[in-house]
Amino acid sequence: MRYEDFHRRSIEQPEAFWADAAKAIDWHTPPQAILEYDNPPFRRWFAGGTTNLCHNAVDRHLDARGEQLALVGWSSETGQVRELSYRQLHCEVNVFAAVLRSLGVGKGERVVIYMPHTVEAAIAMLACARIGAIHSVVFGGFAAHNLALRIDDAKPRVLVCADAGIRGGKVIPFKPLVDQALARAQHPPAHVLVVNRGLAAELPLLPGRDLEYGPLAARHADAEVPVEWLESNEPSYILYTSGTTGKPKGVQRDVGGYAVALALSMWAIYDIRPGQVMFSTSDIGWVVGHSYNVYGPLIAGATSILYEGLPTSPDPGIWWRICEKYGVRTMFSSPTAVRVLKKQDPQWLRSCDLSRLQYLFLAGEPLDEPTADWITTALGKTVIDNYWQTETGWPVLTLMPGVEMKPVKLGSPGLPAPGYRLRVIDENTGQDVGPGQKGVLAIQPPLPPGCLSTVWGDDGRFIASYFSHFKEQLYSSLDWAIRDADGYTFILGRTDDVINVAGHRLGTREIEESVSSHPAVAEAAVIGVQDAIKGQVPVVFATLKRSDGDAGEAAAEMMRTVSEQLGAVARPSRVYVVNALPKTRSGKLLRRSLQALAEQRDPGDLSTLDDPNALEEVRRALERGADAGA
Ligand code: AMP
Repeated sequence: MRYEDFHRRSIEQPEAFWADAAKAIDWHTPPQAILEYDNPPFRRWFAGGTTNLCHNAVDRHLDARGEQLALVGWSSETGQVRELSYRQLHCEVNVFAAVLRSLGVGKGERVVIYMPHTVEAAIAMLACARIGAIHSVVFGGFAAHNLALRIDDAKPRVLVCADAGIRGGKVIPFKPLVDQALARAQHPPAHVLVVNRGLAAELPLLPGRDLEYGPLAARHADAEVPVEWLESNEPSYILYTSGTTGKPKGVQRDVGGYAVALALSMWAIYDIRPGQVMFSTSDIGWVVGHSYNVYGPLIAGATSILYEGLPTSPDPGIWWRICEKYGVRTMFSSPTAVRVLKKQDPQWLRSCDLSRLQYLFLAGEPLDEPTADWITTALGKTVIDNYWQTETGWPVLTLMPGVEMKPVKLGSPGLPAPGYRLRVIDENTGQDVGPGQKGVLAIQPPLPPGCLSTVWGDDGRFIASYFSHFKEQLYSSLDWAIRDADGYTFILGRTDDVINVAGHRLGTREIEESVSSHPAVAEAAVIGVQDAIKGQVPVVFATLKRSDGDAGEAAAEMMRTVSEQLGAVARPSRVYVVNALPKTRSGKLLRRSLQALAEQRDPGDLSTLDDPNALEEVRRALERGADAGA
């Protein structure tokens, strides 16, 4: 099949296209309408149909592939490997679902999952899906403040956590972080369910509220919990992501549209059929973990590998040995991970039998050409850049080897995925720009299946954040883009204040709020600055309340504050203490000029600058070196 024909049909005959795609999943009640679009920009895919993500990911495979591996949890940190067949996974999910039900969790109720990247976390997610509860996974690298914000927005009945995570051999107890978060949350859950991995030296439990999973699971050892059939558009999960304000947005996903989009993407994009093996190195805390560690591969009847640990530990050959051992066909990772591996001897790759590996997909951040070149040569496999967002849930731009492999163009994530009608819009005129011209990447609604339904609890914010940027009601990706004459799109970076650190999306406002919460700080500006490994790193410029304060000490404390409140992932790389921050006459921080100076570029149009001395201050600080950090 030609890619062009496949994509054109998805755009010109969306209902016929998606009706066909919907046959790939099981429906308890078939959809009554493929698409309802009478209240734009909201749309309802497969309206009236009832289905269930857990049934499609687990139960329906029991007859054909009950003994096949479903999940492999490989931990280089603990040295343990857990292999679960579909039948074993089915049992474990039923037990977990029974435990959740015994704690009063029912359909539509929220469960926050704060766990490391383990099989147990995937089981918890599937158990929620089974009983129609809405999970909200919070990345295990986030700290108490971030967790509290998400708890207050989701108002969960139960929080599931592990006793500890472990990174680079260092045990990070989770329970004290949970306790800190609950102490400041306005809407703490009724129960905390702790999956004890035996890693934390102490496990403080509050009687009545906190319960260990193990003894409860033993009580429900043979449980069978019926699947809760959900209307296609009911919520399946919430996943928070950063935007331009300090308050994260709860991306709300549906059930049927998500299942259908994932099922399609598994064969058409990732070229995975039932029984084959996919290895995504992401974490369940991110959207890739949801879509391509848990739901996508399982819906497809494939085997999914969950890896806990660093790519270089116990040695830089570990990922390739896993590929060899399990016969991985498609691997999914990030440019940052490849840049880390690039520093190692390519012999680590060459000493493994990778004959069954066909593709490496990379996503989450721009794929620079040297990195793409290096890994393509070192692996000798097809390397495919993927562009998507937490909001979309699956790729927007990609190449589709399961349909037709088009040529790779370095620097471009390729062509639109099915169902995406993409436009590149001039931000001032709202008109489409021509080939080779820069604009904002926009999606013509209705959004295809799989994309977010709304912002949790806030339809107004959904419209304001995504559909209010142009004269027409278009979804703004908030990314700059250029499309060439062949239709390949190149992504040029965000239009808002979101930065991308090692493929992790962070809001500069969230970090600014955290830095400013330090009592010595008067004001802070946070920008993303280019970094050879992580793509970008957060850099802070701050003014102090007392100009005679110790700048070095204050700067070090600012770094600590961010680590404690938001987590190590958001820790600033450098902090510069200055006497003034560059602002416009109307008081807006000139973050782009700051960023340009920090990257040794021209600071651009400074006609609106209020105080030219502030810019000189920044230049001097950069010359002098950071007050804390490298
Ligand atoms: P997240 O929601 O964390 O997946 O982050 C989405 C953002 O990451 C996008 O809006 C882009 O700015 C960036 N991004 C993701 N994938 C790519 C890619 N392949 N190339 C360039 N930027 C990307």
